[in-house]
Amino acid sequence: MRTGILGGTFDPIHMAHLHAAETALFAGLDRVLFVPAGDPWQKTDREVTAVEHRVAMTRISIEGIDGFEIDLQETERQGPSYTIDTLESFPDDDELFLILGADAAAGIHSWHRAEDVLDRARMIVVPRPGTPPSAVTEALPGALRLEMAALDLSSTMIRAMAAEGRPYRFLVPEGVYGYILAENLYAKPETGDRVDQIIREE
Ligand code: ATP
Ligand code: MG
Repeated sequence: MRTGILGGTFDPIHMAHLHAAETALFAGLDRVLFVPAGDPWQKTDREVTAVEHRVAMTRISIEGIDGFEIDLQETERQGPSYTIDTLESFPDDDELFLILGADAAAGIHSWHRAEDVLDRARMIVVPRPGTPPSAVTEALPGALRLEMAALDLSSTMIRAMAAEGRPYRFLVPEGVYGYILAENLYAKPETGDRVDQIIREE
């Protein structure tokens, strides 16, 4: 069993996550597990959306898609949640592949027990605008690279678009868009806040 693991905050999950997972499956994995991160135990610079919503959006995204599964172990663990604990939860003879955006790959040496992470799983790196391939090569000379279009989107960008009233509907799965609206997760839709500066003159 060749298992890909795609961890993330998924606040919200978006098309780049899903396209990377599909491309990794196509490249030869048997399944991709989406692993939503638990709520952060350390104080961070922003409030992460409640885990129930992040899990719900992840479920909606993968529903009915062969080879896509959700793994809730990080949301169920108490205290800090480390990738190495997730990797070590699988039987020793499971072949594991950690799917990482280039930004995450370039910073992997700061992770808890980074060497053990690299021993236990092979890295599959997803291209991401903002992180040059050389930064990935430097950090992870032996990593596998996923060949796919670099997609310049992030959850941060989508949250900002929602809050400003800009369109972002087609950057997330249809069900996720509906969920965000129904739960009023990111938008503060006061008409006065609507951005009208979408087209700019040079
Ligand atoms: P945020 O802006 O909140 O940090 P994000 O878009 O970076 O959100 P995460 O949940 O932090 O999404 O990312 C989970 C994983 O997906 C990370 O390995 C990250 O590098 C990767 N990833 C996210 N967006 C992209 C993208 N556009 N291209 C490639 N990899 C991505
Ligand atoms: Mg991120």
